Amino acid sequence: MLAVNYRGPFRIRADKNLPYPEIEHPEDAIVKVLRSCICGSDLHLYHGLVPDTRVGTTFGHEFIGEVVETGSSVENLKVGDKVMVPFNIACGKCAFCKQELYGNCHEANPQSTAAGGIFGYSHTTGGYHGGQAEYVRVPYADFGPTVIPEWMDPDDAVLLTDVVPTGYQAAEMGGIQEGDTVVVFGAGPIGIMAAKSAWLFGAGRVIVIDKLDYRLEFVKEYAQCEVFNFQELEDPVVFIKKQTDSLGADVCIDAVGAEAAGNKVNSLMGRKLLLQGGSTTALHWAINSVKKGGIVSIVGVYGPVDALVPIGNVLNKGITIRANQASVKRLLPKMIEHVKNGVLDPKAIITHRIPLEEVAEGYHIFSSKLDNCIKPVLIPPA
Ligand code: NAD
Ligand code: ZN
Repeated sequence: MLAVNYRGPFRIRADKNLPYPEIEHPEDAIVKVLRSCICGSDLHLYHGLVPDTRVGTTFGHEFIGEVVETGSSVENLKVGDKVMVPFNIACGKCAFCKQELYGNCHEANPQSTAAGGIFGYSHTTGGYHGGQAEYVRVPYADFGPTVIPEWMDPDDAVLLTDVVPTGYQAAEMGGIQEGDTVVVFGAGPIGIMAAKSAWLFGAGRVIVIDKLDYRLEFVKEYAQCEVFNFQELEDPVVFIKKQTDSLGADVCIDAVGAEAAGNKVNSLMGRKLLLQGGSTTALHWAINSVKKGGIVSIVGVYGPVDALVPIGNVLNKGITIRANQASVKRLLPKMIEHVKNGVLDPKAIITHRIPLEEVAEGYHIFSSKLDNCIKPVLIPPA
C-alpha cells in the first residue's frame, strides 16, 4: 500500500509497496484512511527533535477512515463504519484511563513511564505506525474510534482527532476565570484553537503572539482576538507587562513547543541564550510574562532535551504549570456538540489538500510555512 516512509530528518517520502497492516490483536481494527493531516507535532519528528524516531516509521496521528476489518473481540465497531480516531492510543481500562487521562494510557506504551501511546510518533510513544497511509491498524478499537455523525463534514471530523480538543484543552488547563487576560504563544492550528476556546471559558481579553503575519491575520479574524508579531516587539515579556498594568497576564498558553517553525537551530539558540540569562522560546516568555500566581498551560511538545524551564521564576512567582497531551476521547462529545452548534468551525483552518503521494512537498510547505500554509490535509488515493 501507499504510506509515508520516514527516512531520517528532513527526509520523508510516500512509498507504494509498504505492507498492508494486519490484525495483531483481537481488539484491533483496520481502517482505510479517508483523510489525514500533517501536525506541528509531526514537524518535531521531521526536524529530528524526537528521540527514537526510527527509519521506516509511517507518521500520522490525525486521521479519519472507514473500518474494513475488526478483530474477534471488537464489539462497538463494524465494517463500513466511518470513524474519527483520537491521536492517543488508549485502552480505556488502565489506572490512567480510569481518570480519563487518555493521553497517558499505560497499556498502550508499557515500556515508558513518561508517555502514553500515539499513532506514528516514534518509539517513545509506543512505536505504532500512523495514518499517513492508505490503511492503518487501530489498537483498542472498541475504545478510541468514534463514529462520525452523519451530518459532520469529514474536514471537521479529521480536526477533531487532535487540533480542536488540543486547543480546547490548552484553554481548559489555563483555568481561565471570568474576565481574564489570556496570552497564547503560537498562531498555528493549535494556538488558533486555543485562542478561540479561551472565550468559551470566559476570557475578557485574548492576545496571540507569533511571527507570521498571515497566521496572525487569520486568527485575529477567526478568534476575534488581538495579535502581535514578536519580531516587531523589542521584548515580548516587557510588552505583555505593559499591556497588563505591569502585573502580567492571568494565563499564558504555550502552543509552540520545540520551535516548530524554527527547528534545531532555534532550539539550540534558545538554550545558549538561556545560559546567558536571556530567553527566546515561547515557554520562557510564557513563564516570564504570566502574573504572580498565574497559570501557564503547555500543549507545545518538547523532547526531553528541551526541558530548560526557568524554574527559579516559577517558584518565586508561585506559578502553576499545567501540561499534557490532549485527552481527545474525553473531550470529543463536547467538541462534536460545539461543531454541531456552530460554536467551533474547525475546517476553516485547512489551507492545503495534498495527495498522499506528494507528502514530501506537504511537509516542506508546512515546515517552511510557505504559501500561507496553516493546516495541510493529505488525501490518499480513492
Ligand atoms: P505549527 O508549527 O503550525 O505552529 C507553531 C507556531 O508557533 C508557528 O506559527 C510559529 O511561527 C510559532 N512560533 C514559533 N516560535 C514562537 C515563539 N517563540 N512565540 C510565539 N510563536 C512562535 O504547529 P501546531 O500544529 O500549531 O502545533 C503547535 C504545538 O502544539 C507543537 O509543539 C505541537 O507538537 C503541539 N501539539 C501538542 C498536542 C498535545 O496534545 N499536547 C497536540 C498537537 C500538537
Ligand atoms: Zn497532531
